[in-house]
Amino acid sequence: MDHPCLRCGACCAFYRVAFHWSEAEAFLGGCVPPELTEKLDPHRLAMRGTNAAQIRCVALQGVVGEAAHCGIYPQRPSVCREVQPSWEFGAVSPQCDKARLAHGLPVLTPGDWLDPSDAGLPPLPQSA
Ligand code: SF4
Ligand code: SF4
Repeated sequence: MDHPCLRCGACCAFYRVAFHWSEAEAFLGGCVPPELTEKLDPHRLAMRGTNAAQIRCVALQGVVGEAAHCGIYPQRPSVCREVQPSWEFGAVSPQCDKARLAHGLPVLTPGDWLDPSDAGLPPLPQSA
């Protein structure tokens, strides 16, 4: 099963991605590439492209709603790590739903996390 986020990317083209400046300072343990950020205020940076009228993070690769992924996935800011796709861990994610709806995509459902190869298999027997 492909991860649903790899067919989406909506949240990376909907929210302003702001975070503390230290996340882009290597000497403080930060890993976000500084050249992909812009100063937002004395305390915060934003991912370039997300503080704009037409929001799209500079690190987003691909086409929203078709095939998209983060080009700096291991180095993405903390706020990106906090966004959960709806139902991946058994609950709705309002951030995910709002971004998908804004891009004309249906919200994820529990069915989006089923492996098609499991369809139709009988349930495991219960132990006594
Ligand atoms: S978290 Fe939701 S909105 Fe963001 S890429 Fe994944 S499915 Fe799309
Ligand atoms: S850094 Fe990556 S995960 Fe975060 S908004 Fe940009 S493309 Fe999306």
